[in-house]
Amino acid sequence: MILKKKKIPYGLHNIDDEDIQSVLNVLKDGPITQGFIVEKFGQAIADYTGAKYGVAVSSGTAALHMSVAALDIGPGDEVITTPLTFCATPNSALYQGAKVQFVDIDKDTLNIDPSLIESKINENTKAIMPVDFRGHPSNLPEIKEIAKKHGLRIIEDGSHSIGSNYSHLDKKYACGDCMHVDLCTYSFHPVKHITTGEGGAILTNDLNLYEKIHLMRKHGIDRREEMFSEKKRIGSWIYDMELLGFNYRITDFQAALGLSQLKKIEKNKFRRNQIVKYYNNHFSNIDELILPYEAENVDSNFHIYVLQVKDNSRYDRYDLFNYLQSKDYLPMVHYIPVHYLDYYKKNFGYKHGDFPISENYYERAISIPLYPSLKDEEVEKVVEDIINFFKSN
Ligand SMILES: *Cc1c(COP(=O)(O)O)cnc(C)c1O
Repeated sequence: MILKKKKIPYGLHNIDDEDIQSVLNVLKDGPITQGFIVEKFGQAIADYTGAKYGVAVSSGTAALHMSVAALDIGPGDEVITTPLTFCATPNSALYQGAKVQFVDIDKDTLNIDPSLIESKINENTKAIMPVDFRGHPSNLPEIKEIAKKHGLRIIEDGSHSIGSNYSHLDKKYACGDCMHVDLCTYSFHPVKHITTGEGGAILTNDLNLYEKIHLMRKHGIDRREEMFSEKKRIGSWIYDMELLGFNYRITDFQAALGLSQLKKIEKNKFRRNQIVKYYNNHFSNIDELILPYEAENVDSNFHIYVLQVKDNSRYDRYDLFNYLQSKDYLPMVHYIPVHYLDYYKKNFGYKHGDFPISENYYERAISIPLYPSLKDEEVEKVVEDIINFFKSN
């Protein structure tokens, strides 16, 4: 029998014995869902980022969908987002019957280019959905200015950016503190910074939005005290449905894992930054590569490490990808621009050339291994192998 060597992926979750014990405790003592640990986890995420309120939910996609729904965005409305994201971002608007307007990215940050947003605003526009791609915060202060001018709301897709910070006019901000946005969503899928298996969260400083989303997570069903105190024949079965909601609940054992994982954000971020420094130092000598950009005012969690292979007559990103895959790695490309996806092309008529900066980036990009449990020897091996690729080509 040939033992297959385990390949090194581009990203990997990091679960330790303490995490496992915290899940076991809930499984043994219950309740395993609809208990207080879910509420505690939601609030703990808010406390970590500095937002007032947090709701833990079943996925990042659920978080995005409820954010759009909570802002009453529906048929006839439009939202603006970037094509360089996972399809869940624009899909969340489509779920509600709204229309999506894509705005191309800034070639350095790879986030939505604020200077292009206004050209896509019309009387139907309701919200802007910036995505903090790679963990690098979007230019939220500038996006807020635009939103204020046009009376729009902002939903930050922070799936990559828990633990990232930025400064603006000498003040410090954290992704998820909601100082420049109405709502921020997180994902706790295993490739994200911290994980609950599947899971997500919505953060806000707006009490009304918080209460609405909290209700929406469980079918819009409410069981308030006053329902029981009315002078009529009632019992503890009584509930009422106040709005059309969903079942987007996360379980208590997942929330316990999340609470335990939350304690490790800084440690994970530190290790990621160590690896990034090592990569940057060694790759900066390779002329054919564009290294990940970090704006001066940004302190990123480095969710993924994206290299770009410059236009070159001898080889390209596809060659580098195949080379790494033929060795011991599972590299990735983030992302196929959403307007390239069949559903978007068929239904909305998008074509190549519509968003040239995203498209050029996509042809060059490759995500190489970056996660907290990556060992020094592995990091050194990645560097050695990539240097060899460029030497021998
Ligand atoms: C992961 C991700 C999502 C979706 O999160 P799920 O938890 O997988 O539903 C949405 N947007 C971005 C940018 C993501 O990376």
